[in-house]
Amino acid sequence: MDVRNCKQCGRMFNYMGSSLCPNCAASLEEKFQEVKKYIYDNPSANISQVAEEMDVTTQQLKKWVREERLAFSDSSLVGLNCESCGALIKTGRFCEKCKKDLGNALSDTIKKPEVQSNPFADRKKSGKDKMHFLDR
Ligand SMILES: [Zn+2]
Ligand SMILES: [Zn+2]
Repeated sequence: MDVRNCKQCGRMFNYMGSSLCPNCAASLEEKFQEVKKYIYDNPSANISQVAEEMDVTTQQLKKWVREERLAFSDSSLVGLNCESCGALIKTGRFCEKCKKDLGNALSDTIKKPEVQSNPFADRKKSGKDKMHFLDR
């Protein structure tokens, strides 16, 4: 049996893949649902506004974004940096290019012709919202 201390409240619990005890995990999940609802009701809220209104840290919000549970909208000027090249991304850990590079490195070594990236391609979806949620 793997017993650990909860990162949030420090209590011992049976480790099941989460660094939080069942109690804290449940209240964090509850918080996520509240945040999700808040973002739904306030589509123009930015991350610091959401953090302030919902009493969560921007770190926690970004963690949810990294986990692809939340995402910044395409029109948002705020985002995260790709962990590989630092490009601005809206959700996850890597930009599309690095995702592709990582995929290519794993799968094939054949050079594909470079696709010219269109700087306006990302703007075709005109959302006013700064954040939205991914229902998974
Ligand atoms: Zn706890
Ligand atoms: Zn990248």
